[in-house]
Amino acid sequence: MSKKLAGHAPKNPLLSPRFGDIATFARLPHTRELKGVDMAVLGIPFDGGTTYRPGARFAPRAIRNASVMNRNVHPDHGVHIYEKLSVIDWGDINCNPLNLKKTFDAIEKDYGTLLKAGVLPIAMGGDHSVMYPILRAMKKKHKHFGLIQFDAHTDTADQAWGEKFHHGTPVRRLIDEKVLEGKNVFQVGIRGPLTSVDQMSWDESQGITHLGMDEFHATGMRTILAKLDTGIPYYLSFDIDGIDPAFAPGTGTPVVGGLSSYEALSCVRKLRGLKFIGFDLMEVAPMYDHAEITTMLASALIFEFMGLAAI
Ligand code: MN
Ligand code: MN
Repeated sequence: MSKKLAGHAPKNPLLSPRFGDIATFARLPHTRELKGVDMAVLGIPFDGGTTYRPGARFAPRAIRNASVMNRNVHPDHGVHIYEKLSVIDWGDINCNPLNLKKTFDAIEKDYGTLLKAGVLPIAMGGDHSVMYPILRAMKKKHKHFGLIQFDAHTDTADQAWGEKFHHGTPVRRLIDEKVLEGKNVFQVGIRGPLTSVDQMSWDESQGITHLGMDEFHATGMRTILAKLDTGIPYYLSFDIDGIDPAFAPGTGTPVVGGLSSYEALSCVRKLRGLKFIGFDLMEVAPMYDHAEITTMLASALIFEFMGLAAI
């Protein structure tokens, strides 16, 4: 016997088949009415902070298309997401493709609205620069929180071409502005060639924890799980390039030697029990994808976020 739904839930596929209709995330209702809503999926179609291959602006639409096969029950957690939570597709934030500052302002404002209504946000980026305004908005509501980030890159560069804001700098800026403390930043999947030998020294000086691929293969998530302060909530940011391009080719700055699809899903599952204040899935660039493997994985990872939120 199924229990009562908590509120908004996906359309019944036996009435409206999954391959039809307008694609919202997981076929959830698209609304901006936040009364009674627990969680919202939203898009940030912006790639003006990209330093290499652009295209993440097209990710929210592509992930929505791939997400129509997402169902209701998380088999490992044994939870029916929509019996626990009322969930909507909020639509996209109005980004200005020619202006980083105006886009960041729009993101911070819309996140303010969502957080004020007590809604747990899940963002589909967008390039990773948009994490900066998201976490600035989070800081207005939550005094202390940490960051768990899956990424090939640390995103702690200081600048590029003299610009302080791009997808390689959000973590640096957020620590500079004391939105984050380095000791509460945990990065999984870090790998690949660096520009200079001392590129990691700033990260070390801030106390950021990196879980590189050798260590991941030796110990899994144990290092991170042992070090996490469980007394604070976390924001979970997933840059799809944390995954190996063999499993996620559709991204702008791919780095070989990363996590497999299964490893990524399993890592996220292992974070059960932590309190989360928000989630994002960034850097999918659908035009480099093949057979939807990246967008299907992005959609599955968002389902994992929903599972963590519903436990
Ligand atoms: Mn990143
Ligand atoms: Mn990255």
